Amino acid sequence: MLNKKGKIFVLSGPSGCGKNTVFEGIQQFNKNVAQTVSVTTRAPRTNEKNGIDYYFVEKEEFLRKIENNEFIEYALYGENYYGTLKSEVDRLVDNGNIVILVIEVQGAANIKKVMPESKSIFLLPPSLDELGKRLRSREQNTEAEINMRMNIALEEIKFKDSYDFCVLNDDLDKCIQDVNDIITK
Ligand code: 5GP
Repeated sequence: MLNKKGKIFVLSGPSGCGKNTVFEGIQQFNKNVAQTVSVTTRAPRTNEKNGIDYYFVEKEEFLRKIENNEFIEYALYGENYYGTLKSEVDRLVDNGNIVILVIEVQGAANIKKVMPESKSIFLLPPSLDELGKRLRSREQNTEAEINMRMNIALEEIKFKDSYDFCVLNDDLDKCIQDVNDIITK
């Protein structure tokens, strides 16, 4: 299924720690970096587009994809499923990209099992207080969802030492530089 034309990295860490912002920062000066588009059962947010931010599907379709063995990894995060399609990874790797999977912690652990040659990076927020502030400032989640994400974050942070690299996202520019150094060295 997977070949080794491109390198694969997992960028993980709690919701709100800045994974997507860091990825976008890297892509500014590193054009052969590509992010897989995940499938989710979560409803799209107002600014999100199907096929660009996610492939948005109903739960039945997601379960069918699990049944058909279409995912390289998937996880239940809160009340919704999220998963990375094998076809999506194959397409980007075959094109010779540095492929980055921006995913939560359970999925990151699963990728390490099926692709031990991949490298994992944990993005650590400066503090839980700061993480809460960032989640609130995005104005994308209700207070109940923010609380759920904070509770999940507490669990996720426990896994930081199991990653190949752990990078503090305190100063965004430095964090982008640090992650870029890891993926390009
Ligand atoms: P959000 O609802 O904020 O878009 O995503 C919630 C969490 O799911 C985030 O930590 C995000 O990185 C993660 N996530 C997004 N796509 C995937 C995926 O394909 N697999 C897994 N395991 N997690 C994902």
